[in-house]
Amino acid sequence: MTHWICGTCSVEYADTPEPPASCPICTDERQYVPPTGQTWTTTKDRAAAGHRTHVEPVGAHEPGLHRVSVQPTVGIGQVSLLVQTEAGNLLWDPTGFVDQDAVDAISALGGLAAIAASHPHMFGVQVEWSHAFGGVPVYVNEADQRWLGRTDEVVRPWSGTHEPMPGVRFVQAGGHFPGSSVAIWAAGAGGRGALLSGDTIAPVTGRGWVTFMRSYPNSIPLSAAAVRRIVDRVEPYDFDRLYGNFGAVVEADAKAAVRRSADRYIGWVSGDFDADT
Ligand SMILES: [Zn+2]
Repeated sequence: MTHWICGTCSVEYADTPEPPASCPICTDERQYVPPTGQTWTTTKDRAAAGHRTHVEPVGAHEPGLHRVSVQPTVGIGQVSLLVQTEAGNLLWDPTGFVDQDAVDAISALGGLAAIAASHPHMFGVQVEWSHAFGGVPVYVNEADQRWLGRTDEVVRPWSGTHEPMPGVRFVQAGGHFPGSSVAIWAAGAGGRGALLSGDTIAPVTGRGWVTFMRSYPNSIPLSAAAVRRIVDRVEPYDFDRLYGNFGAVVEADAKAAVRRSADRYIGWVSGDFDADT
């Protein structure tokens, strides 16, 4: 049997004889089916097409954090983050492809103890990743479990907040999806804390700014109340640096950047600046 992978979002599905008729993640208004239509692939086909994983340190200023990417990119193209802790490693926002290069490189860094995605667009081939590392838990927020195309005994539901290992805490902030989450890594940023934000809170091109959206590809905004709730949910935690799911970083004063950006966003969607339009 073949575990099907959506050609557009690279999320994995069950091992049915024929691929599903459509990908619910891509037909949802937050994603898209390309004009060329729905396609399906498999990890074997992707390997044959030349895709390879790459694992590299984020930098000397951030020991214990690596980026995991696929080149050429697959699906939505997220860059996963590998967080090393004394209690084992977390793979955050797993890519839509895994190979022996990834297994070898990550095993040399201590393997995996947990896998989690910030939201369903980032599920990737999370169950396949888990199986490549002996069946480690894949944490899925309860509010978004219905988006799982591939269920498995390695999936562990959670909600609210959850500590998969000492030093790492998942926080359900909602917004983009009801279960959209962030991970707080206490040892990050030299002990000041790092927020692995997925695109629950998305770094934008201007330095020190982030944004919040229901849909990024289709530019559908969130309400003022939803953005306020996201910020309130992360407010209790210390973090100085913020890592998004496509390699962008707010290097310092990230908590202030989140507050400042939320105030700007809320002002705009509430009409405070309509005189400028
Ligand atoms: Zn899809």
